[in-house]
Amino acid sequence: MVPRVVVLGSINTDLTLPLPRLPVPGETSIGGDLHRGHGGKGANQAVAASRAGAAVTLLAAVGDDDLGRDALDHYRRQGIDVTHVRIIPGVPSGAALIFVGEGGENMIGVAAGANARLTPEDLDHLPATVFAREAVFLAGFESPIATVARGLERARQLGMPTILNPAPAHPDLLRGGLLHLVDLLTPNRVEAEILSGMRIDGPETAILAAEAIREAGARAVVVTLGALGFVAATAAETIRGAAFPVAAVDTVGAGDAFNGSLAAAVAEGRTLKIALRRASAAASLSVMTLGAQAGMPRRDQIDRLAMPSGRPDPAEDRS
Ligand code: ADP
Repeated sequence: MVPRVVVLGSINTDLTLPLPRLPVPGETSIGGDLHRGHGGKGANQAVAASRAGAAVTLLAAVGDDDLGRDALDHYRRQGIDVTHVRIIPGVPSGAALIFVGEGGENMIGVAAGANARLTPEDLDHLPATVFAREAVFLAGFESPIATVARGLERARQLGMPTILNPAPAHPDLLRGGLLHLVDLLTPNRVEAEILSGMRIDGPETAILAAEAIREAGARAVVVTLGALGFVAATAAETIRGAAFPVAAVDTVGAGDAFNGSLAAAVAEGRTLKIALRRASAAASLSVMTLGAQAGMPRRDQIDRLAMPSGRPDPAEDRS
C-alpha cells in the first residue's frame, strides 16, 4: 500500500529580487531580474513527502487570484492532492518578498494572506476520508495555531502518527496541552533554543534541550542542527545522527525536506531511527540544489544515500 501523508501548512509564492546590496529604510535600490518561485513550508514539505514516495494530501488555503491558481496547478501537476485546499475569495494568496544582497544576505517579509484565514472549522468540514488511521499527519506554524491544534486533535483521535514542525517558533506552543497531541516535535536549533530557553552549541546541548522540551508533553523531540545533523530524545533513548557530507549550495528548505521525508518514512512503517536517517539523507541532498522545492530529492536518491548496501543496516533497525 502506498504510504499516505496529510500535510497541514502554508502555500506561498516566493518573489526574489537580487540587489547589489540591501537597501536601508527610505532607499530605492535597482536590482536584477525578479524571480518567482513556489514556496511556503507546508507546500515544500508536501513536495518533499511526495518525492520520497508518499501519496500526499495538502490542507491549506490560497486566495482566488493568479498566484493561488498558479500554485495549485503546480502542485496538481506533481500529483499532490490539492482538492481540499480552500480557495478564499477576496483574500490575497500568501507571498514572501525576498531581497538578496551582497554575499547572499537577505531580508524577507512574508504576507500570510489566505494562510492566516484557514480555520479549525475548515478542518471540521473535510470529508472523513482525509484523516485516515494509516496516514501520517504533519503540520507547521505558518498556519494558525488553533487550526493546527484542531488538525492534531482529529489525527490523534484516529490514532494517526503526528509530526509538528514548530516553525516559526510560536510562543503559545508550550501552553494549553498542544504538545500532548504530538508524537514527533521537530524544531531546528533556533526554535529549540526558544522552546527550551537553553543555549545549543552542538549535539550534546541539543540533547539536553530536546529532553527539556519533551517534558512539556511531546512523545519525542528531534532537533535539527544544519550541517551537524540532528539529535532525538524519546522516553526510551537518545539518537544522534550525522548530516551527510555534501557541497551545500542553498540550505533554504532543508528543514522542510527533513520533515516531509520523515513523514513519508514514518508512513511506510520505518522505525524512528531509520526514518530519521532517511530524513537526514533527503535534507542533505536538498541543500545541493538552488531553490527549496527544486532540491527535494526523489526516493531512489534517498535510498542510495541512506542505505548504500541496498537495505537498511539491520543492527540499526532494532531500536
Ligand atoms: P532548517 O532549514 O529548518 O533551519 P536545519 O538547518 O537544521 O533546518 O537543517 C535540516 C537538516 O538538513 C539537517 O538535519 C541536515 O540533515 C540537513 N542539512 C542542513 N544543512 C546542511 C549542510 N550544510 N550539509 C548537509 N546537510 C545539511
